[in-house]
Amino acid sequence: MISKVQSAVISGIEGQMIELETHIANGMPNHVIVGLPGQVVKESKERVKSALKVMGIRFPDTRITQNLYPAYLRKEGAHLDLPMAVGILTCMGRMNQADKRFGFIGELSLEGHIRPIKGALSLIEGMKHAGITHIVLPEGNLNEGRYVDSVSLYPFQTLEAMVAAFESDSLSPCTPENPSFESIIQAEHFRDVIGQEGAVRAAEIAAAGFHNILFSGPPGSGKTMIARRLIGILPPPDRDERVEIAKIKSAFEVQENFEYASNRPLRAPHHTLTRAGMIGSLLPGEVTRAHRGILLLDEMAEFRSDVLESLREPLSTGWVNLTRHHHAVRFPARFMLVGTMNPCPCGNYFSEDVACTCTTHAVKKYIGKLSGPMLDRFDLNIYIDRVETPRGARADGNLMRLRIESAHALRKEMEKAGTTMSYDPEVSDMADRYYEKGKFSMRRYKKLLALSETIALLDQRTRVQTSDFYEAYAFGGQNRLAEVK
Ligand SMILES: [Zn+2]
Repeated sequence: MISKVQSAVISGIEGQMIELETHIANGMPNHVIVGLPGQVVKESKERVKSALKVMGIRFPDTRITQNLYPAYLRKEGAHLDLPMAVGILTCMGRMNQADKRFGFIGELSLEGHIRPIKGALSLIEGMKHAGITHIVLPEGNLNEGRYVDSVSLYPFQTLEAMVAAFESDSLSPCTPENPSFESIIQAEHFRDVIGQEGAVRAAEIAAAGFHNILFSGPPGSGKTMIARRLIGILPPPDRDERVEIAKIKSAFEVQENFEYASNRPLRAPHHTLTRAGMIGSLLPGEVTRAHRGILLLDEMAEFRSDVLESLREPLSTGWVNLTRHHHAVRFPARFMLVGTMNPCPCGNYFSEDVACTCTTHAVKKYIGKLSGPMLDRFDLNIYIDRVETPRGARADGNLMRLRIESAHALRKEMEKAGTTMSYDPEVSDMADRYYEKGKFSMRRYKKLLALSETIALLDQRTRVQTSDFYEAYAFGGQNRLAEVK
């Protein structure tokens, strides 16, 4: 007899349904797994064997063949232990063939416990999309499952309890309570910023439109301080974005006390980071961990050039394409890039009060670490100078956040209604004139219009005025660093 069990594997961060066929035949004792299993899957044999033994079931000393379908997909993960055990038990007649609407995921311990697994959320979603609506999973992953609509969940702690429930018709789904979506407001941290009105305003515009922003300035000017606070004023993620953020988190580690992301991620890797660490290799990299949030590169010029250049693909497509074990995988990587840097090795190149001690060659070399196309990815470029005693008002993060959320809501409303922003005729004329004069590239031209739209939305308008364009030009028109090059 051949038994069939549905399960799933992860490709990138998406779950994909697979089917496991099990066949037990007469012959020399041998357990073969085919269909591109990874090393961990091959080791499942021992765990399954031991788990059955604990239940008092003698492992068949005949020929067992288990085939994972589709064959082209590489199968990784110890979560296939449970479907493999179910396949063998069904074949042996110790369990009835499960309904086709059932899917199984879970790692087994040698004592037959069903252990929590990585990536449960993606696996459950993948099965759901393939029409599997009843999912048997480790009790430790129940929290992750409760965020997926229209699936019934059957959590178990041991293989024995699971088999008993299936055989006694006492199977009933668990109905976990719905999670609440509340975000933690960190906007008040902006109160630490005194004065620096230009930089604070630029931060507000960047956050409202998810525009990439580069802060440059001498050490001690507060550029890192403002850059770090940006995460607190971003609009909260919507439901779909929360699911995306959570799936990435779940793919990295076992989440026993899984909580849905209430905030967007902030990733601030050290400048010694490698290219693989940035874009990923076996595991997703920093750009994926920063998905739907901020990737902050403090002192950008200290990062290796190849690491910085590797950002170009995700910055333009929102994805990272990699090859793993000869198979193409892709990870989502749509993030807001926030950079800070000194304009030269000593940091005082543009400073009004402290003289720069660097040679022209040293300055050019330093800035040259960021290629022209890389500098061009920043929509806003802000120079912050050092001030001896900060003067001016404290930044009001809560007010900024309110304005940003209103702008975000207005943009969503327009998207829903299928309308677009309109422009005062003078704005288009002016932008065209600047472009024709060769003041900026086509890419920059488009970015300036996008910035102008965000500025109008912050003012609760859907029509762009000349003042919006002027402000956009002031923040995103020229890059002082590019002029040095
Ligand atoms: Zn210098």
